[in-house]
Amino acid sequence: MSLKIYNVLTRKKEEFTPLTPGKVNIYVCGPTVYDNSHIGHGKTYVSFDVIVRYLRYSGYDVLYVQNITDVGHMLDTGEDRILKKARQLSAGPMQVVETYTRRYFEDMDALGVQRPDISPRASGHVPEQIAMVKTLIEKGHAYEVDGSVYFDVSSYPEYGKLSGRIIEDLEGGARIAVREEKRHPADFALWKKADPEHILRWDSPWSDGYPGWHVECSAMAGKYLGHTFDIHGGGIDNMFPHNECEIAQSEAANGEPFARYWMLAGTLTLDGIKMSKSLGNTLTLRDALTKWRPEAIRAFILSSHYASPIDFSDTAVEASNKGWQRIWGAVSLVREQLRTAVSGDADPDVITLLEKTKASFIEKMDDDFNAPAAIGVLQELTRQVNTLLNEQGPHTQETLTAIDQLYRELGGDVLGIVPEQAESGANAEREEGLVRLLIDLRAQARANKDWATSDTIRDQLKALGVVLEDRADGTIWKLE
Ligand SMILES: [Zn+2]
Repeated sequence: MSLKIYNVLTRKKEEFTPLTPGKVNIYVCGPTVYDNSHIGHGKTYVSFDVIVRYLRYSGYDVLYVQNITDVGHMLDTGEDRILKKARQLSAGPMQVVETYTRRYFEDMDALGVQRPDISPRASGHVPEQIAMVKTLIEKGHAYEVDGSVYFDVSSYPEYGKLSGRIIEDLEGGARIAVREEKRHPADFALWKKADPEHILRWDSPWSDGYPGWHVECSAMAGKYLGHTFDIHGGGIDNMFPHNECEIAQSEAANGEPFARYWMLAGTLTLDGIKMSKSLGNTLTLRDALTKWRPEAIRAFILSSHYASPIDFSDTAVEASNKGWQRIWGAVSLVREQLRTAVSGDADPDVITLLEKTKASFIEKMDDDFNAPAAIGVLQELTRQVNTLLNEQGPHTQETLTAIDQLYRELGGDVLGIVPEQAESGANAEREEGLVRLLIDLRAQARANKDWATSDTIRDQLKALGVVLEDRADGTIWKLE
C-alpha cells in the first residue's frame, strides 16, 4: 500500500504523489510569537512533527518550512498582537518577539518536536513581501488606497476554493472603517499604511507601513519551496481567511498552482471549551509539562487523528499516560533483560511477530497518518512482548535487540513516544546507578530476611516517585 492523504482542497483521500519523486516540500503555518505556547499549539505542531517524521521514515527527503509570525497579525480590534503585548510589558516589540520565539522553540524541544529545517521570520522577509504586492498590483489583482494595498478578491474567481466559502457570504464582518476603504468587504490587506504611533514599519512604494499577515506565508513558502510545492499544513482555525488568502495571493501572483495537498489539524478544546484568554481557560505547554511527561502529552495528542478535534482533560491525559506507561514499561523491561542476555540465534517466532507489527504499523500510518491506530498496533505488540518476557525465556541478546530496535524505530523515530533511555545525559546514568544500588541493598536485606529495611527502601523510593516491581527474573524500576 502507498501513502494516502486526505486533501482538504479536493475533499478526498488521495494517493500521495510528490512533485519530485522521493522529495517532499512542506510548509506549515507557524506561531505568532507574542505569548507562551499553549497545548493547542502542542496539538498542531506534534501532529505535523509526526507527519514529517513518518515521511522521512518512509524514505522521503523532506524540506520542512514553518514560519515565525513576528509582524502584521492583527486582532479583530485592529490592534497588532505584538505591539499590544509590548505595551503591556513596557518592552520593545522586537524584545517581545525574541522572548517568545525562544520560548516557542524551548517548549517544542521539551515536547520532542523536531525543529523545522527553515523557520523564516516575517520581519526578515519584508522585501520579498513588497515584491509580491508589486506583482499583484501589476497583474491587476490588487489596488492601492491612501498608502494601503488590498487584494481584489473579484479578480480571482477561485477565491474560496479551500474553505468552500463564496464571496457573497463575506459581505459582513469587516470593520466599518476598513470597509469604507476597500472596494469589496472580502478584499484583504496586503500592505497597511502605519499610524504615526505604530513602531513596526518599513519603507515601501505605497507608504511607510507594514505587510498584512497573509502575504508573509505566500512570500516565504514561494521563496523556500517554489511556487508549487507538495504539502501545506496548519491548524484548521486558519483555513479561513488566512490559508484561503495565501492561495489567492500566490496563484494570482505566480500564475501557477500553490500547494498540492492541504492538511489541516483539528482543534483542541480544554475540558470541553474552546481555549480563550478572555475566558481564562488556557493551559500553557510549560504548565502542562510540569504535570505530565512529554511522551504522555504526545501520546494523548496522537490518541486522536490529526484532523480530528480533541478534548484535553486530566482524565483523558491520564488514560493516555497509562497506555503509554504500559508501552514504556515493556521497553524498559526489554532493555533491562538485555543487560544480562547472552548471544544466540534470534527467536524466529519473535522475528515474525515484529515483521507483522511493522507491516501493520506502516499500513495504519500510510492511511492518512492514522497515529491512533498505529499506537494501537504498538499496544498489541506490548501485550505480546509482556507475555514473552514474563512467561518465557531467557531470551537471546539478538531477540531482545530486535524487539528494542522496533520500539526505537516506530515508537521513537516516528511517534516520538519511546525515549532513547529513561532520562537523558549524565544525570540519568547517576539516577540509574543510585536506584540500582538501592535495589541491590534491598535484595541483600531480603536475603537476610530483614523485611523492615527492605520495606523502607521500597516505600521511600515510592515517596520519591520511583516504583519498584519484583519480577521472576529480578526487580525493575520505573518512574511513577
Ligand atoms: Zn500561514
